[in-house]
Amino acid sequence: MTEPIVSIRNVSKKFSGGVIAVDNISFDIDQNEFFALLGPSGCGKTTLLRMISGLETPTSGQIMIGGEDMALTPPNKRPTNMVFQSYAVFPHMTVEQNVAYGLKVTGVAPDEIKRLVAEGLEMVKLTHLAERRPDQMSGGQRQRVALARALVKRPKVLLLDEPLSALDAKLRDDMRMELTRLQETVGITFIIVTHDQDEALSMASRIAVMEKGAVQQIATPVELYEHPKNRFVADFIGKVNLIDATVTGQKGKAITCDAKGLGKVELTSASQVGSAIAIAVRPEKLKIGKTEPKSDRILKLQGKVRDVAYYGDTSHVVIEGKDGLDLSVNVQNESREGGSGVERGQKVWVHWAPEDSIVLTE
Ligand code: ATP
Repeated sequence: MTEPIVSIRNVSKKFSGGVIAVDNISFDIDQNEFFALLGPSGCGKTTLLRMISGLETPTSGQIMIGGEDMALTPPNKRPTNMVFQSYAVFPHMTVEQNVAYGLKVTGVAPDEIKRLVAEGLEMVKLTHLAERRPDQMSGGQRQRVALARALVKRPKVLLLDEPLSALDAKLRDDMRMELTRLQETVGITFIIVTHDQDEALSMASRIAVMEKGAVQQIATPVELYEHPKNRFVADFIGKVNLIDATVTGQKGKAITCDAKGLGKVELTSASQVGSAIAIAVRPEKLKIGKTEPKSDRILKLQGKVRDVAYYGDTSHVVIEGKDGLDLSVNVQNESREGGSGVERGQKVWVHWAPEDSIVLTE
């Protein structure tokens, strides 16, 4: 086992005015990870990133980078480099000068600067624009300048604060793949802050989901999506149907419960009799049929189509069931005729396999 590159130990940050932005967080980030801090606005993710960079000081706790306690190390002496949301490139300098700047001020020899800048520009595919000024470039290109400028300094950890939020949707998609490729090529640990779950899911090797200054779950994208720990994570990562239920019986790993709009269902869980749970199921795991499915093993209900939204590749269908239970279903529009094949007001059956249900006890 290699030593973690970043260790966060019982770190808290309390701002004047009493706001607890980060509340006793502990976790490790491994070398070469693409790690995302994800959460809604105000959850403390930027504050945590700024504490790793040294721009903010923890109220209590310890931050170790490369095995060393950073308590007394100022930002410019840390083996980290930060790429800001606004890119912060110098408009009056050429791309080449921008990328060289940080090396110059730390006294790197001119020949070495030349070599490193050429390498940096190559990494972000900007060699052909070396003589341009940032104000003659697109947002995506400016972002690459900022990345090259941070990477040429060979930090052990690159910190990225919402790096794609100023780009339009198409460019953001392209840059996600670019960033993933870049991280794999340079072999530097990336820590990215984002409130955009798609961004985190598509780029990160692991994600810490934060809420109100605390970490709710740290896991791989697939683990978070398929095995969320609680309602908050299930709801924040992707779309989910949450069905309230009460456990009425338990035998080994099998439970029987009474679920809103579904009635009696059998599932796998170790939940106690009498406890309130939520059955979570992702919209793409639900199937719609016109007739009642024959199997008793599956979970099913009859309902009425309330809304159909067509998105080209998929349709989003909302089914109104009993007892106020609404279910969202994602239908793949596989045929070129008719989209989802159902229309508003139609009576349909919704069903899914018990193993596609996630039982949440928190
Ligand atoms: P966003 O996505 O909106 O940037 P965030 O998850 O990054 O949100 P932070 O910026 O870390 O959240 O802020 C966490 C909490 O700390 C918020 O309630 C914020 O108002 C507060 N906060 C941040 N910086 C300061 C400061 N310098 N002084 C006082 N309170 C602050």
